[in-house]
Amino acid sequence: MIVQDVARGVHSGFPMCCIAFFVLAWNRRNLRGGWDLYERLLDATEPMAGYVRCPVCVLRGRVARAHYCTDACRGKAGARAA
Ligand SMILES: [Zn+2]
Ligand SMILES: [Zn+2]
Repeated sequence: MIVQDVARGVHSGFPMCCIAFFVLAWNRRNLRGGWDLYERLLDATEPMAGYVRCPVCVLRGRVARAHYCTDACRGKAGARAA
């Protein structure tokens, strides 16, 4: 679900550009081939980023510090522990 993916991305502290890229392109990548190279690029540039970065962030070397949910997140919109 797009709404849940966006809420989860926002809660996790990912940049909006990357959330949009994830929802609009990455989630649909299996409909079209050609993503192997991008996956390898993500692994090669920032394998520990913890999320799918958009091409702009990859080019600029921008990496957000991902938030990892704890019990304190329970019940909040987009939290994994909800
Ligand atoms: Zn981005
Ligand atoms: Zn959380």
